[in-house]
Amino acid sequence: MRIRGSRGRGALLRMKRRDWRAMLAELGRRGHGTIESGAFLLASKDGDLTRVTRVIYYDDLDPDCLVGGIHFHGLAYDKLWALCRTDGLKVVGDVHTHPAGWVEQSDIDRGSPMVAQQGHVAVIVPHFAQRPTDPSDVSVHLYDGRGWTSWTGTEAAARLFVRRFV
Ligand SMILES: [Zn+2]
Repeated sequence: MRIRGSRGRGALLRMKRRDWRAMLAELGRRGHGTIESGAFLLASKDGDLTRVTRVIYYDDLDPDCLVGGIHFHGLAYDKLWALCRTDGLKVVGDVHTHPAGWVEQSDIDRGSPMVAQQGHVAVIVPHFAQRPTDPSDVSVHLYDGRGWTSWTGTEAAARLFVRRFV
């Protein structure tokens, strides 16, 4: 399969490279190399749902949620849904960091999707996002309503399309 140079057909999520880098920098800053951090990935509700146009960091919705792992509290979802309503957005995925090179889902990641909706995509970034990270360094997980399909390496990069223009 050709990945480099492809148009991103089959991608589950697309992000502008500038947005991708800014997101990684924020995740790294918020976890400061010692704890996990994360964010919701949103798309315009009436547009291309694979195109991530907004990133909402967990700790902006729930300041107490970064406790080593991530314990996002139910009430913070109200803020998220309100924001989706006012800004015409839909949550299409989420991203969170893991320590070292570990990008497999934890039991909690698997058992408690941040949004338990078919088609939701979860991305896991290694090294607490403290290093330059390409899509082929992360893992991508697609929720089908009951379980997950997971990809790493070039397979992950084929599903997470990061380019200058998307
Ligand atoms: Zn995790």
